[in-house]
Amino acid sequence: MALIDNHGREVTYLRLAVTDRCNLRCFYCMPEEGIDYVKRKELLSYEEMVRLVTTLVDLGIKKLRITGGEPFLRKDMMRFLTMVSTLGLEQINITTNGTLTLPYVPKLKKLGIHSVNLSLDTLSEDRFFQITRRDSFEKVIKTFHALVDTGIRTKINMVVMEGKNDLDLIEMARLAKKYPVDVRFIEEMPFNGSGRSSDLVWNHMRIFDKLKAEFPDINRKEMKPGATAVTYEVPGFAGDLGIIAAYSRTFCGTCNRLRITPQGMIRTCLYDEGIFNIRDLMRSGASDLQLKEAVLQAIGQRAKDGFEAEKLRFNQASESMSTIGG
Ligand code: SAM
Ligand code: SF4
Repeated sequence: MALIDNHGREVTYLRLAVTDRCNLRCFYCMPEEGIDYVKRKELLSYEEMVRLVTTLVDLGIKKLRITGGEPFLRKDMMRFLTMVSTLGLEQINITTNGTLTLPYVPKLKKLGIHSVNLSLDTLSEDRFFQITRRDSFEKVIKTFHALVDTGIRTKINMVVMEGKNDLDLIEMARLAKKYPVDVRFIEEMPFNGSGRSSDLVWNHMRIFDKLKAEFPDINRKEMKPGATAVTYEVPGFAGDLGIIAAYSRTFCGTCNRLRITPQGMIRTCLYDEGIFNIRDLMRSGASDLQLKEAVLQAIGQRAKDGFEAEKLRFNQASESMSTIGG
């Protein structure tokens, strides 16, 4: 079966945020004082998530990304990953801040996790502290090396911010020269939990100009279907560079994603406010068929792009990204 939306786009990729909790306070994602976490019983249980993924695989979902908040803050994460690894998905990926991941790296490899996206916005310990407001740089770097040494495909996500880490952009890009990792530069979005508007100084074009000035031989690669990153190769580099126009939203025309928040809100676009709560539907005793019908209905009314989705919102887009999953 294939999940086709009202614009003819096939939806194959589920992003499941397993918790809204986080042990960092990244400037671009959360206010310094943190956010009000939802009560534990409001989070989807592992069993509920397994049921949902099973149902969505039946509908045509092929790839899964586990995200958060910080996924490894959730107790027994490996038990959950082991459960979802048996559900017939083609790929399971994880996005993490890398502060708690280190002990699990060998198990992730053994389980066949396809790739890990590691958030790292600077290679300066001081700036790491300024951005994340936590003293965890060393742990993240150790995780980075463990992932590379274990041979798990690794992508580094850097949110580029004027005056915070823009000076680190080239040094971060050079990680892909030395190591077989992709380094992806992300436009800052307004999902910071504080209502601060992201005055986007570093848009995708400026990021590209900076890379091009430093690496004149940079060469755009063909875009994979559904990809959000425009990917570039640089001769002599072990990995690729990528630019994700998350604020400019240049990739919506081929979007293949469906999101489920930690509380079970279905979002058919990163910029929408939530279409319906599938946890409530499950807890009210809905059958698998009813779950499927509800998802199909949501997919059949998808906004054509992130601008349309944002326009339809009741509240301004400013909730913390940790409540959506990225
Ligand atoms: N805690 C994990 C982490 O940081 O990787 C997983 C969740 S985090 C919300 C997922 C991704 O969203 C990260 O790569 C992070 O850099 C990105 N992100 C968070 N807030 C953002 C914002 N305001 N603009 C752009 N990207 C953001
Ligand atoms: Fe936590 Fe990830 Fe948000 Fe940073 S980006 S505060 S690590 S959820």
